[in-house]
Amino acid sequence: MGNTKPNILLIYTGGTIGMVKDFKTGALRAFDFKNLLKRIPELNLLDCNIDTVSFKEPIDSSNMNPKYWIQIAELIEKNYGNNDGFVVLHGSDTMSYTASALSFMLENLAKPVVFTGSQLPIGDLRTDAKENLITAVQVASLQYRKKPAIKEVCLYFEYKLYRANRTTKINAEHFEAFASLNYPDLAESGVHLKVNKEYLFKPNLKKKLVVHKNLDKNIALIKLFPGISETVLQSVFNTPNLKGVILETYGAGNCTTETWFINLLKTAIKKGIHIINVTQCSGGSVIMGHYETSNQLKKIGVISGKDITTEAAIPKLMYLLGENISGKAFKISYETDLRGEIS
Ligand code: ASP
Repeated sequence: MGNTKPNILLIYTGGTIGMVKDFKTGALRAFDFKNLLKRIPELNLLDCNIDTVSFKEPIDSSNMNPKYWIQIAELIEKNYGNNDGFVVLHGSDTMSYTASALSFMLENLAKPVVFTGSQLPIGDLRTDAKENLITAVQVASLQYRKKPAIKEVCLYFEYKLYRANRTTKINAEHFEAFASLNYPDLAESGVHLKVNKEYLFKPNLKKKLVVHKNLDKNIALIKLFPGISETVLQSVFNTPNLKGVILETYGAGNCTTETWFINLLKTAIKKGIHIINVTQCSGGSVIMGHYETSNQLKKIGVISGKDITTEAAIPKLMYLLGENISGKAFKISYETDLRGEIS
């Protein structure tokens, strides 16, 4: 009988998990991948075959950008046929953005892509890296009837598996660094790995993987605050080639009703700039028209982000702009649940 263990590809992009302290400055910087693997001999005990590939120069995820998202997508595309699952090691700072981006880029994904990292480097005595990495590989290897159990991009951190495009980094110190406030956990790791099957994404298995690499970066993110300046906003909306704006509003999608503000948005929409309403709250949803302070937005054609996270709203906007969809269809597509990112 041949080897029937699942094949897992481990992709190392950088992050604290593989960092070491710089002798002179004491600051943490990315280290090489081989060192990381040496520190976790337990990986050899797992019931799967692990292959590894590393970014040539691992990065702190604060330097992450769509150019690297495409690199990760291409690694998965190239190795899709020969592997049953993928684990991406990534810094936690921008992990939710990258993992959300990959969820949009990998259409009809039928295998697990599990992002993980750690708050402490692998060499640290109290590291959270080992548990995160080992369980992430286990999750990626999980099969039901010889087929991958999980068929979506997810994020594993501190005993919990989340749908990636629902996550937000909520803490810079706690091992429990992420939360998914608008969607239940996909799995929890205790004595047993308890998978909440009813919440898993169910892709159409008849369709083939399509990898989208055309991401349009001509977008802006504006977080409203009381006293926001008209001049500043005017300059943002007058940015050459601007195609889309994520507007982080208050509560259920509310904003100031001052005439200058509404007129500014109206003019931008007339120019063909897409404006998406996303709430500043970590949990809950935009409901335009619920209050008088969001009625105007609805009337002038602002798109509802519903309960999407900002981390998912940004790559969704880049992805849909890259698809060159025309005005009305763009609004419909953005308000549609594409990868389980909205309820
Ligand atoms: N600054 C690090 C990064 O995001 C933090 C981490 O890995 O947790 O790369």
